[in-house]
Amino acid sequence: MPHPCSATVDLSALKHNFAVVKSLAPNSKIMAVLKANAYGHGLISVAHALEEADGLALARLHEAITLREAGITQRLLLMGNYLNAQHFDICAKHNIDIAVHSLAMAEQLSETQGKQQLNIWLKIDIGMHRLGLQSHEIAKALELVKNSTAVKNIFIMGHLSNADSLNPDTTKQQLTLFNNSTKDLAYPKSLANSAATIQFSECHFDWVRPGIMLYGCAPSNEISEQCQQLKNVMTLKATIIALRDISIGEGVGYNLSWQATRPSKIATLAIGYGDGYPRHAKPGTPVLINGQRAPLVGRVSMDLINVDVTDIQGDTELDTEAVVWGEDLPINEIAEWADTISYDLLTGIAARVPRLYVD
Ligand SMILES: *Cc1c(COP(=O)(O)O)cnc(C)c1O
Repeated sequence: MPHPCSATVDLSALKHNFAVVKSLAPNSKIMAVLKANAYGHGLISVAHALEEADGLALARLHEAITLREAGITQRLLLMGNYLNAQHFDICAKHNIDIAVHSLAMAEQLSETQGKQQLNIWLKIDIGMHRLGLQSHEIAKALELVKNSTAVKNIFIMGHLSNADSLNPDTTKQQLTLFNNSTKDLAYPKSLANSAATIQFSECHFDWVRPGIMLYGCAPSNEISEQCQQLKNVMTLKATIIALRDISIGEGVGYNLSWQATRPSKIATLAIGYGDGYPRHAKPGTPVLINGQRAPLVGRVSMDLINVDVTDIQGDTELDTEAVVWGEDLPINEIAEWADTISYDLLTGIAARVPRLYVD
């Protein structure tokens, strides 16, 4: 019996995408971004598959510790946290690098008498105004961390806001600011996310930080043309658990918000927003059944969705696995139907969905 709902993760496709990063940025080290449970693909399995990566980046301390406890020995970078003296000790003990993105954090570090030292990535704000030091704070922060006994090696990082756009203007401005603010600093540098790894080789520097492209997704629809070498990694599947015929005028799902305008065959699939299927997916969102597209009808429930299979050729049978996104049904397309992005869908897959690994 198939799982009612499962996510197949193709680790050889993941490794292929890693090789694509390598070919695009042959002179840079690769910090593979594994935050949020490796974009929903499963933190530990993905980490083991990417043993060639020079480092792995996370967003929460427990994710980094989980990897160390699983025996991962690569460089780990914790991005986007406010950390104090207690955390510094824990990170040093587990050999976890940290992003230092504010003067406040640099001050905390300078006041810390580290028993063990740690590597820090000084993060510069180059326009996004989310995390990072403002230009006028860099010299002060640098002085603080250089003089801190808790600090071992220093790296410099920045983050681009518009690298997934075909219009390069903003990226060029931000790159110029990054270059100007850091030109006198002889530390290894990192700027590129997936989109910049793909589009802007001048942003590669010493370390690239790809995330979404490793999982086979284009960072945006605008640059999907340039992403055709990437291979799909996840296929989310759900089983048909009920079938019925309904007459003209009959409704489907909560509030009967969809009504049949012809005699219709409706298949009910074992996936819902409780699994991470987007509740805001509009009627018409495609599902693949026997390799053919069938439209979502009615509202998405917690455990179930309904699909109109009237036009599917051949028999639609119970216990058949339908593809909700993945091979031949790009997640970016589903994201568009749900007014969101692939990142949101992937990280929203619930814990109850088993991840099945194939190599
Ligand atoms: C998430 C993240 C990345 C990876 O971004 P992708 O668009 O998934 O490649 C890189 N750098 C930072 C700081 C991030 O937060």
